[in-house]
Amino acid sequence: MLWSNYFIPTQKEKPIDAKIPSHQLMIRSGMIKQESSGIYSWLPIGLKVLKKIETIVRDEQERAGAIEILMPTLQSSELWSESGRYDSYGDEMLRINDRHNRTLIYGPTNEEQVTEIFRKYIKSYKSLPLNLFHIQWKFRDEVRPRFGVMRGREFLMKDAYSFDLNQEEAKLSYYKMFIAYLRTFERLGLNAIPVSADSGPIGGNLSHEFSIVADTGESEIFCDKNLLEICIDENIYSSNDKIIDVVENYLNFYSATDDKHDVKKFNNLVSKDNQVTGRGIEVGHIFSFGDKYSDPMKASIIGNDGKMSNVYMGSYGIGVSRLIAAIIETSNDEKGIIWPISVAPFLVNIINLKNKDDKCMDKCIEIHNDLEKNDIDSIVDDRDESAGKKFSDSDLIGFPVTLVVGPRELENGNVEIRFRREGNNQIIPYDNVLKIIKNKLFEE
Ligand code: ATP
Ligand code: MG
Repeated sequence: MLWSNYFIPTQKEKPIDAKIPSHQLMIRSGMIKQESSGIYSWLPIGLKVLKKIETIVRDEQERAGAIEILMPTLQSSELWSESGRYDSYGDEMLRINDRHNRTLIYGPTNEEQVTEIFRKYIKSYKSLPLNLFHIQWKFRDEVRPRFGVMRGREFLMKDAYSFDLNQEEAKLSYYKMFIAYLRTFERLGLNAIPVSADSGPIGGNLSHEFSIVADTGESEIFCDKNLLEICIDENIYSSNDKIIDVVENYLNFYSATDDKHDVKKFNNLVSKDNQVTGRGIEVGHIFSFGDKYSDPMKASIIGNDGKMSNVYMGSYGIGVSRLIAAIIETSNDEKGIIWPISVAPFLVNIINLKNKDDKCMDKCIEIHNDLEKNDIDSIVDDRDESAGKKFSDSDLIGFPVTLVVGPRELENGNVEIRFRREGNNQIIPYDNVLKIIKNKLFEE
């Protein structure tokens, strides 16, 4: 990709209405453009990161056994009347009348719709367990949309829905998602803390939020440091006992958000040295709620004893677009964003210091093609801009690696390599570029 043929509208000035670093940096690096309050267009760099996060989220859902579907954004209001939420959901739900004066709603979540799919096709315990997920835009008319995509009105969510025969199996489905969430966030370079939570308007009896510690988090969280040190082995899904052991190990440790925090219990259960407190950004929320929807919506199944019973359900959300903001909040400096390798918009930016020099341009293209052949996404900054502007844009956008190709080094067979996270640079022979970058990617 040549930068001059691409579209990255970077800006130097801080947008005045953006209060937190992620919002400022997403605007400045040309990732998003606000269209109206809490509603954004995704520009190429932003969309690229969004897609990469989506891919990791999808991959871990599938690994845990969930199956992807796609439900529409617009839903019939009748389903919501059946569950009783048409009235109770309140002003956050956007209601629209079509030309026949039928009311549609722009889905804030999909419990009703997925229950309707389930009851239409599934009648027997033999089809269980089942977990269906989709990655789809949601709309919630938040009272105070703010902080960019962190609290938008239109936002991208992954939501999964599990169906089980009984409580015991529903718990296992819940635990699998619990593990999938931890693995997902780890791949995104985030340390997520599971905290037991209220289940809010979704309702239910078992619920955890996953929070990322960052100064700009909206709630306060408290937990035991030991919880952060639990490891999940690669083959966890091969055994249900392993899954249960690991999750129950997590559940043994203290963790709470401010609304549930119990100071006395915290001090009793957790030694001073192990007490972790901080602000938290909620990036995921899981619920197990039995027959809250299957009962009013009559989603029942025949068990192996021939009796009909309501299916047990759970729902599991990840804020895919909010995750971008969460990653930036935990990984930035005064110059800009510092992307983890797994979601960087391009892994390598190749800066041409002298556009009009054919040798420099040829070398940039040669390196670029070599990298692409090895599936290393890269861009050549061939713009007619000063070196200073090229360097500052590269740091602002936060490419993990920047290569600098200039006539002087090139004479000696060298280029400069800069690592964004470490902030160091080195002159290396250009024949070693691929090897060094591969090592770097492997390291993270
Ligand atoms: P919050 O407490 O932040 O309002 P919520 O509890 O209402 O979120 P859930 O219904 O649990 O949200 O939705 C699942 C996930 O979707 C949340 O964990 C969060 O990551 C994301 N999410 C929810 N609301 C928004 C929003 N307005 N903008 C961006 N992401 C959101
Ligand atoms: Mg929540």
